[in-house]
Amino acid sequence: MATLSPLLQQATPVLADRGEGVHLIDEDGRRWLDFTAGIGVTSTGHCHPKVVAAAQRQVATLIHGQYTTVMHRPLLRLTERLGEVLPEGLDALFYVNSGSEAVEAAVRLARHATARQNIVVFQGSFHGRTMGAAALTTAGTKFRTGIGPLMPGVAVAPFPYAYHYGWSEDEAVRFALRELDHLLATVSHPDDTAAFVVEPVLGEGGYVPAPPGFLEGLRERADRHGVLLVMDEVQTGFGRTGRFWGHEHSGVRPDVVVTAKGLASGFPLSAIAAPAALMERGRPGSQGGTYGGNAVACAAALATLEVIEEEGLVANAAEMGARLHDGLRKVAADHPRVGDVRGLGLMQASEFSTPDGEPDPGTARRAHAAAVERGLLLLTCGAYGQVVRMIPPLIVTGEQIDEALSIWSEAVTAATR
Ligand code: PMP
Repeated sequence: MATLSPLLQQATPVLADRGEGVHLIDEDGRRWLDFTAGIGVTSTGHCHPKVVAAAQRQVATLIHGQYTTVMHRPLLRLTERLGEVLPEGLDALFYVNSGSEAVEAAVRLARHATARQNIVVFQGSFHGRTMGAAALTTAGTKFRTGIGPLMPGVAVAPFPYAYHYGWSEDEAVRFALRELDHLLATVSHPDDTAAFVVEPVLGEGGYVPAPPGFLEGLRERADRHGVLLVMDEVQTGFGRTGRFWGHEHSGVRPDVVVTAKGLASGFPLSAIAAPAALMERGRPGSQGGTYGGNAVACAAALATLEVIEEEGLVANAAEMGARLHDGLRKVAADHPRVGDVRGLGLMQASEFSTPDGEPDPGTARRAHAAAVERGLLLLTCGAYGQVVRMIPPLIVTGEQIDEALSIWSEAVTAATR
């Protein structure tokens, strides 16, 4: 009899049978409050009736209209519709299946379009697990160790992670930009640098929003040096941060947006968006994949966009995110082991530290386990697993936020007793 590989690490013991909105129901009928949303994917909630109906209709019509062989309507309609929510000028789209693949598609495009090789990423970055994306990932050595040599041509600059450095956000931004300039002067000359690839909120690396001035500093350097600014919105896009795109908190215009996760409410679909003039500098036929732009996934994405608009989910993410943030701060005020609370919209985290300011993964792990025991599903993140994050579906209500906060308060108390 076959078993699942021991390589699998599962964050909770749940054997999910059904999903309903913000809840998962296991095989014994126990309801779990799901503040993981499948790692920020099921933004419209589990099995939203409109997404289900759209997918069911499409399954019965055309499942696989392979897009390098034939075209299909759901892909064309989705492209039109995404044009309405993407930043002005990013008017050409290409579809693949996962965040990692889309990140690699963006790298391929950047290298073709600039005829330069190097990609600069920022410490703590997570851009995926495929070999190219893993080369861009610096959120933890577990994603890199023992699998090299990884794709060459990647340089790493600091991310302004103020709490980690023990600085103000302004100091951290000044440091990070100065080090980026230093890197361009010592390691990767601008003539060799194709792109800066950045997350507007560092995700797996610890839920650190880019402080004011950082993305602006990247934009300014990108313009000065002819480098492309690639925004990895895989986790931050589709309303997650309380704006449609995470970078909108800055007002900076990216050259390329990478999107996945929340795009299709759980169906595998990802995309890159860029100005058509930039896409034209790629090589025709250089991008693709058997399953890219799957018709059912596209139909689900169209329904997802409809639900986000009809139910005002971006505004709800902002409002519920503020409520969650305030509540997490109150819990932190009673528990000195919670050294920092941060996040944007419904991407919120508590970072645990020892009394002498070192990362405290032990307490984070215990708090996480105590929350799960009490029915609240959460995830950890950060290089050491010292951060506990909350990413509920964007449909979450005030009562559900309060219920989660009450469990969280008990869990942190239990973990620090
Ligand atoms: N980029 C970011 C910012 C992510 O958070 C993730 C997944 N956590 C990825 C890329 C990779 O996406 P996938 O797992 O779909 O390949």
